[in-house]
Order: sequence, then structure tokens, then C-alpha cells
Amino acid sequence: MTDISGFKKLTFESTRTMNCTEAQTLMSAAVDGELTLREQQSFEKHILECKSCQHEFNEAKKTKSIIKEKIVRFKAPQSLVNTILKLSSSPQ
Ligand SMILES: [Zn+2]
Repeated sequence: MTDISGFKKLTFESTRTMNCTEAQTLMSAAVDGELTLREQQSFEKHILECKSCQHEFNEAKKTKSIIKEKIVRFKAPQSLVNTILKLSSSPQ
């Protein structure tokens, strides 16, 4: 078996390694794709190594896609649409 620990160490040093707390903090932004490139790389690196964060990220992604689906399918009742339109067009 090839020892890749040296290689691993090198890649870890190229970008900062984040800990679980940081990964958790970035989790929702990561799901939304709102991370900076650096954060994204650092985050992805963490979840590759950390099974629990990886699991949580997958769950978060699943939850988000479910919510998204529901929003897309959800059709606002006409009365609500009318209220919103009235509110947004009424003078102050
Ligand atoms: Zn973690």
C-alpha cells in the first residue's frame, strides 16, 4: 500500500484546515453555494476527511432540495397574491 500521508500533508498545508465548528458555521452557506472559493475549498477538504460533517452536509443538501421542490410546487392562493399586489402598489 502506498503511503500518501506526505502528499496529504502537503495539500492540507496549501489551504487552511478548518475544524468542525467552522464547517458547521459554513454549512448553510455551503448548501446555498454562497461560500467564497477559499471557504469552499477549505470546507470541501474538511468534509472529505470528516464523516460526521460530510453526513450533515448531505442531509442539509437533501433538506434544501426538498424545501426547494415544495416552494416550486407551492402556488400562492389568488387572494394572497392580490393582497401582496395591493400592499406593494398602495401609496404610503
Ligand atoms: Zn467535521
